[in-house]
Amino acid sequence: MSRASPQVQNISVLGATGSIGSSTLDVIGQHPDRYRVFALTAHTRIDELKTLCLQHRPRFAVVGEESHAQRLQGDLRAAGLATVVLAGPQGLCEVAAHPQVDAVMAAIVGAAGLESVMAAAVAGKKILLANKEALVMSGALLMSAVREHGAQLLPIDSEHNAIFQCLPCNYAEGLAPVGVRRILLTASGGPFRKSSYAELEQVTPAQACAHPNWSMGQKISVDSASMMNKGLELIEACWLFAARPEQVEVVIHPQSVIHSLVDYVDGSVLAQLGNPDMRTPIAHAMAWPERIASGVTPLDLCALARMDFIAPDLQRFACLRLAIESAQAGGAAPIVLNAANEIAVAAFLREQIRFTHIPQMIEDVLNLGIQGQIDSLGGVVEIDQQARQQAQAWLKKQSITAGKRA
Ligand code: NDP
Ligand code: MG
Repeated sequence: MSRASPQVQNISVLGATGSIGSSTLDVIGQHPDRYRVFALTAHTRIDELKTLCLQHRPRFAVVGEESHAQRLQGDLRAAGLATVVLAGPQGLCEVAAHPQVDAVMAAIVGAAGLESVMAAAVAGKKILLANKEALVMSGALLMSAVREHGAQLLPIDSEHNAIFQCLPCNYAEGLAPVGVRRILLTASGGPFRKSSYAELEQVTPAQACAHPNWSMGQKISVDSASMMNKGLELIEACWLFAARPEQVEVVIHPQSVIHSLVDYVDGSVLAQLGNPDMRTPIAHAMAWPERIASGVTPLDLCALARMDFIAPDLQRFACLRLAIESAQAGGAAPIVLNAANEIAVAAFLREQIRFTHIPQMIEDVLNLGIQGQIDSLGGVVEIDQQARQQAQAWLKKQSITAGKRA
């Protein structure tokens, strides 16, 4: 049955060359009557972006550097496309806030996504939020910008999308008034769920990136392996659902079929289930409050046969403990946690530090007690920069010590 009055929505896909970007373009491609790609952005994968531009013919494309923008602009013009190519953070903000944009898929990884998410919020857009780091860094600012400018924030992270689906629509004032006892945030436990600390010391980037259930970008794959991802998600849940950290409980569920649960005071526990494929939360958020097909295989419960649930081990997975402590501390702590983690993960991927150094570095940087103003984007960025400098200094010290040992 066709819809009564189809209205095509213009979508800017920020981080189009990434894992979420690609799943988003897949869902958009299944519904050309509903969605049109307005802008596509990439950072370094310019050739991939060019292919996507030829396929989706967007109004705008954005890349990291001016020289790349000029080359891409020439290539697209030669191919007969009218796409305008922009560069840098300013370009990202422009396509996030453009008057003709209806929805913004925020799928840039890390702190680099913050400014464009804020620009979309201030422009009152429908924001499909995958970039959890933006909320971790500036939850209070972002949530108030969303309220003040009439934007809509819909969670793409599968757990938060599940929680959103299990909550009543009037949860914004807090969980207690709507009868919610707690949120149960599920975690797969990642590839090292059963590894000993001694084994964790030896893991390689390739092993850390080989997630058992999900295919994702490198940074979030390492975060999942260290369980920092679940810690960032706990902070994300607190902001999205007006929850206190102690109202969010992490449960390991290795099959990744239950994407999270909501426990009500009457004893009801609501869950959202589905095969682990990001096209489900993406399609859900894109069409909300309607439902559209996503291309995801229907769940076969009999083939699944069993589901396990285990409490997390905060000693082996110290990143989760550090994130919970940062959520409780509030203020600058989550910004410092996120910045130090980004530096540590990048260093681990370059094989500069061991996997077990990741929480050690984050804890040392957190213990410096970096403070600052968190009531403006400038203040948040300043804390982020300070934490990055300290994390870099930690790395330098570490390599000197390792050099002396060698
Ligand atoms: P990827 O690494 O696959 O993609 C990241 C995207 O961000 C790429 O398009 C990349 O461009 C772009 N990018 C990287 N750095 C910059 C920068 N400095 N400025 C502008 N753009 C940049 O990541 P994912 O798709 O896996 O994750 C994206 C976000 O979604 C993350 O915040 C992650 O936590 C979240 N998320 C991801 C899930 C998943 O299943 N993948 C699930 C839930 C949340 P290029 O490649 O061209 O350099
Ligand atoms: Mg998630």
